[in-house]
Amino acid sequence: MQIQRFVLGPFATNCYVVVGDDPARCVLIDPADNGPALVRRLEADGRIPEAVLLTHGHYDHILAVPALQQRWPGLPVYCHPLDVPKETVEYDMGQTFPTVAAFANLQPLTEGQQLTAAGIPFRVLHTPGHTPGSVCFVSGDVMFSGDTLFYRSIGRTDFAGGSIPQMKASLQRLADLPGDYQVLPGHEGATLLSEERRSNPYLRGFGF
Ligand SMILES: [Zn+2]
Repeated sequence: MQIQRFVLGPFATNCYVVVGDDPARCVLIDPADNGPALVRRLEADGRIPEAVLLTHGHYDHILAVPALQQRWPGLPVYCHPLDVPKETVEYDMGQTFPTVAAFANLQPLTEGQQLTAAGIPFRVLHTPGHTPGSVCFVSGDVMFSGDTLFYRSIGRTDFAGGSIPQMKASLQRLADLPGDYQVLPGHEGATLLSEERRSNPYLRGFGF
């Protein structure tokens, strides 16, 4: 598995392009922003995306989806239903942004789901707290942790739908997973689950 990271948009969100054995096929995790540039880059690299996996529905993780679906019609977008609002736009500081509800070919994610795209298997862990529908994707020894777990930190719980008790339970669940994982978060740099168990105050119970 080969993983490219692009840091996109005003919130410096990580978008991951995940490539398996076939370099012409890929999965996009959180195509955050800069849609036209992302399309051009995928074309230049000779990659066709087979699925978009969303760690959650916040607009800073999804803004490139319309451009991707315009270029590759039918591209499925996977999101937990709890992060699919009824409205198709979100208002923030007088600006409007598409929500997940605006996208074509939405596919639901559920706890424990196994899905394969571009020949790459993923397992879904429902980890609410940052949002009700936040998930982590696990593939082999790699975990895409979205805005649940960051390097030495965690995602905010003070947005609409956030929950400190749920976040605590989700983090406990991640900490209790057997073995080690390379953790690729939704913002900032990568880490190891073993290091976060040791050094992340929120996984050690005194960050809240
Ligand atoms: Zn978020």
